[in-house]
Amino acid sequence: MPIVRALVLALLFAQFPPPAVDVPRHADTAWLDPYRDAASRLTGEALASDFAWQRLALLGDTFGNRLSGSPNLEAAITWAVEEMKRDGLDNVHTEPVKVPHWVRGHESLEIAGPIPQPLVILGLGNSVGTPAAGIEAELLVVHSFEELDAAADRVKGRIVLFNVPFTTYGDTVRFRATGPSRAGALGAVAVLVRSVGPAGLRTPHTGALNYAEGQPKIPAAALTTEDTARLQRMVDRGTTVRLKLTMEAHFLPDADSFNVVGELRGRERPNEIVTIGGHFDSWDVGTGSTDDGGGCIVTWEALRMMKKLNLRPRRTVRVVLWTNEENGTRGGNAYRDRHLAELPNHVAMIESDGGVFAPTGFGFSGSDAARARVRDIATLLAGIHADGVSPSGGGADIGPSVQQANIPSFELENNGNYFLIHHTPADTIDKIDPLEVSRAAAAVAVMTYVIAEMPDRLR
Ligand SMILES: [Zn+2]
Repeated sequence: MPIVRALVLALLFAQFPPPAVDVPRHADTAWLDPYRDAASRLTGEALASDFAWQRLALLGDTFGNRLSGSPNLEAAITWAVEEMKRDGLDNVHTEPVKVPHWVRGHESLEIAGPIPQPLVILGLGNSVGTPAAGIEAELLVVHSFEELDAAADRVKGRIVLFNVPFTTYGDTVRFRATGPSRAGALGAVAVLVRSVGPAGLRTPHTGALNYAEGQPKIPAAALTTEDTARLQRMVDRGTTVRLKLTMEAHFLPDADSFNVVGELRGRERPNEIVTIGGHFDSWDVGTGSTDDGGGCIVTWEALRMMKKLNLRPRRTVRVVLWTNEENGTRGGNAYRDRHLAELPNHVAMIESDGGVFAPTGFGFSGSDAARARVRDIATLLAGIHADGVSPSGGGADIGPSVQQANIPSFELENNGNYFLIHHTPADTIDKIDPLEVSRAAAAVAVMTYVIAEMPDRLR
């Protein structure tokens, strides 16, 4: 995708002259003239301070990671409500969601033989644990599901390692998601996956697995790229490797959590809504600053800035901090169910869950007519290099509502090291540049404002 994205950017760069300080004017976008001043003010407000980055840093430093069911998540939710009220947002409230409560506990993997030594893992989210004494078994390395099936008679009683190099998330994540059940069905006692992400500094990447109905549930963990390569070399030399995996992972009863909602009520059509947001939960490592604290803060920032600048659009702008995206998506489902009657009044939904690195624009899914509008609006973002509009946009949290009511949907897009960082202990604020956070907030604010303000509805 980087090559495709680079080509798209190059084309956009050719279409729009190098961005100047001011928002460029085009004859065919004269309809945007009433919004240029507001767009400039929102962009200027975002770029003039590091308020959003500071709020994101405070979130991570104070509450740490925010796994569903954890007291950290609930404390952060309470804080967000108070902060939204302090920002002067309207109708600030929480909406209850029952969430799964998975607990990692202590976990370890070691080479048991020939010579014992520890390796670096993170158990996969929603995995079962091992017996207290751990599971010791011989290693079997495979590189695809086809190779797993071909080795079916050797899988029984083994710890299976899926050594699949990271290409794209979509291509590689299936080994994490379904590998445990596929190997379990053939009699494996545990599964390891090469971490789903580019090689880091011996950093394991967690993430959810999905057990298939009717198959044995076996424990599963992500192994660092480096340790995966080491085991591969040992096997290639003909060494019989025995591993010992110990995991305390288990579920507690479902816990109480909440989606956080704040609004800027529309001045003319308050019942028509533009909903924007990110997911407030994270994995239980790092501080969830990239996944997805940043998405929460920059969408929330759009409302804070509109309020501060006294820019109250025609329609209601609503920010939602969804709970439980990572290991259940129950927040997004609860939003759809609770707001079912008003979903037809949702003019658009925007999710930011791809990090807040240098924003390039938005992915958009909607009609051709709406896309033409969105492309025009995006020209207001040329000055911050965020005027791209790519073929599809959505998100795990807005997905249930978008599909239910066929709502035009956006995702904030950017260039950054998202997959290097997310779901790892390295997901911390120091990887995030304050200016890029400000630009991301500006992009969301301008797109949201114009959609909420323009007289005709985006269709
Ligand atoms: Zn996320």
